[in-house]
Amino acid sequence: MSRDNRDRREYFKKHRAAHPEKAKAYYAANKERLLAERCARREREEHRLAGDPAARRARREKKAREHREWRSRNLETARLREKAKRFHITLARAQTLQAITHCEACGVELSEQAYGRTARHIDHCHETGVVRGVLCHGCNVALGMLRSDPRVIERLAGYVRRRTFYSAEYLGLREEPLVGQ
Ligand SMILES: [Zn+2]
Repeated sequence: MSRDNRDRREYFKKHRAAHPEKAKAYYAANKERLLAERCARREREEHRLAGDPAARRARREKKAREHREWRSRNLETARLREKAKRFHITLARAQTLQAITHCEACGVELSEQAYGRTARHIDHCHETGVVRGVLCHGCNVALGMLRSDPRVIERLAGYVRRRTFYSAEYLGLREEPLVGQ
């Protein structure tokens, strides 16, 4: 990139940062042209790199380095974007899910740690891929073990209610049955 081009880029960057609403309005008014220009720039770049594997490698490494640096500066946004991409949801939906602080099944407060009983999990249907919601690690594992089948879960709940009553009754701990609660 020439010296002039670099200066121009810096100037526009500063301008955008200083007047974000102006930049936004300009983009909206000139969107088609700007996208076409970007596309043409990419094509020229592709053409240039097609015959130069070393330059392609250097460019890939530079992009990867820039991305790593950006990611470490914008960790939260990066994680949201990664989640949105992984689960095929919009950024807004990823944000809504991120705002959920408690397991939607058992109500335990979710921790931000990657592992452990209360670790946050985005639960999705394995057949359709559709995201259902946010669960703690324990509930997420339990749901998988029960094959995410509501009939099995309901029967298991009924089973626990009945048998808990019998064992409690046997021990003299409970006078009223739990059935129907
Ligand atoms: Zn839970």
